[in-house]
Amino acid sequence: MSTDPDCLFCQIAAGQTLAQTVWEDDAVLAFRDINPQAPVHVLVIPRDHYRDFDALAAADSSVLQALMRGVTAVAEQEGVADGYRLVFNTGAQAGQSVFHVHGHVLGGRAMTWPPG
Ligand code: AMP
Repeated sequence: MSTDPDCLFCQIAAGQTLAQTVWEDDAVLAFRDINPQAPVHVLVIPRDHYRDFDALAAADSSVLQALMRGVTAVAEQEGVADGYRLVFNTGAQAGQSVFHVHGHVLGGRAMTWPPG
């Protein structure tokens, strides 16, 4: 398993920093965003460290599929499977602030388009 001791989300995955976990399996952890932008706002991360979506997509691993299954499980569990937004901010220009790949699962309200 690859981890970065200086990475906040690696620290959450290791249980060294507290977060409100809502779902997990061997490869994936989902926890509530500390600054929610919708009634449901859950971050879904791989336990392994990948800096962003591109790094995960380029890796030869089953982690990407596990992450997507985690998203689906979270949406079901949180009661938003009929409509939710999945966001991977990728790069600082897109607003990524934590460089450990994470999907934002947002739901529980009507979403607008385009996003800001
Ligand atoms: P991004 O800007 O796409 O990299 O998203 C990072 C997200 O992590 C933001 O929505 C933050 O509110 C959230 N966040 C930062 N620190 C924590 C934390 N300790 N626990 C839960 N969410 C966090």
